[in-house]
Amino acid sequence: MKVRIDRIARDIEIINSFTSTPGRGITRFTFSEPYMQARAYLAEELQKIGARVATTPGGNLCGRIEGGMTGLPSVMTGSHIDSVLHGGRFDGVAGVVAALEAARVMAEEKPAHRHPVDVVVFAEEEGSRFGSVMIGSRAWIGKLTSEDLNRLKDQDGVSYAAAMADAGIAPEAASLLRPGMVKAMIELHIEQSLVLESKGLSIGVVEGINGIKQFAVSLTGVSNHAGATPMGLRHDALQGAARVIAAVEEIAVQEPGATTVATVGVLTCEPGQANVIPGKVRFTLDIRDLDSGRIDQAARRIMSVIQKTCQDRGLAFDIQPRSDTPPVRLSKEVVRLIETTAREKGIKTLRMPSGALHDSSILPEVTEVGMIFVPSKAGRSHCPEEETNLEDIGAGAELLLGAVAKLAS
Ligand SMILES: [Zn+2]
Repeated sequence: MKVRIDRIARDIEIINSFTSTPGRGITRFTFSEPYMQARAYLAEELQKIGARVATTPGGNLCGRIEGGMTGLPSVMTGSHIDSVLHGGRFDGVAGVVAALEAARVMAEEKPAHRHPVDVVVFAEEEGSRFGSVMIGSRAWIGKLTSEDLNRLKDQDGVSYAAAMADAGIAPEAASLLRPGMVKAMIELHIEQSLVLESKGLSIGVVEGINGIKQFAVSLTGVSNHAGATPMGLRHDALQGAARVIAAVEEIAVQEPGATTVATVGVLTCEPGQANVIPGKVRFTLDIRDLDSGRIDQAARRIMSVIQKTCQDRGLAFDIQPRSDTPPVRLSKEVVRLIETTAREKGIKTLRMPSGALHDSSILPEVTEVGMIFVPSKAGRSHCPEEETNLEDIGAGAELLLGAVAKLAS
């Protein structure tokens, strides 16, 4: 069995012909006209290979190819086709077309499989339209209720439920996704980072999705005249913040495993005048790792630097937790199965965490989940420059096909 790169290329081209911002990247918000056109194309392609196509709770599209035995849990694969504003051609799309092509090959070559295979297009993964990420997958497993879908609104005040109805799709009465209904799920996705490219590899096997802890930090000193206040008599909040921010990088780099990433992404300084010593600085702190213990350790070390710096410089500080998303471990069995399949196909792989969230972070509550990463050129993503080699998507699709066929056999 072999996937066909020409068909994958054609799928990518057709799906990306549907965008609200032609010439300025891909903008395909959930349930918008271009979204529904791309969705209709995929439904048609799935029907061509004999899949039974349905809309699930949350507005996801699911095309099922039946297996040789009834009543068995399905093997699921897929991703999303909604995008950010002026996004790229591969985020989500790569995983959807790889899943479609794997299903095509299975439908054509009919390897004996007992389990049904489901190709899924998850709705509103990016949160670009309704301001909340992974709505489709969360609604499907019952984490979001129909009241939530009425409450979540876009910029024009249209609710998720109303937008779905306006687009002419209605979830079948079919029930929520419960444990036991899906044997395993594998999502192929672009890496959205530089690791695979820097190592010259085509495939990453994702072990888990990084947890995120965010804090809002403020340091308070004394605003004063920049000319009249001698250096030794200052309480400069920005000088304190500069020491802390430098330490953030050092601490993250020193964490064992070198997997911790820490970022100060927002910094404001008051009063923000060239001739006034900064009296107050606020900044954000974002720490991520696959291991929550390492996140906590890095956070503790950064907190103690804040404490010591403020003590030394006569500053006050305040640290407020902003968000805490625990890491998600993907299935060890599925990771091993993907690696074994890759070895058989002569494809070199690298185990890695995912720095970004995906629908695959939601589904471990109901099934065994694995992810395959393909490289992003220069690590670019969520922008028109987003690029992945077709050969790499082909290698990923080939691996996906092998793994799904094994799971479904
Ligand atoms: Zn994505």
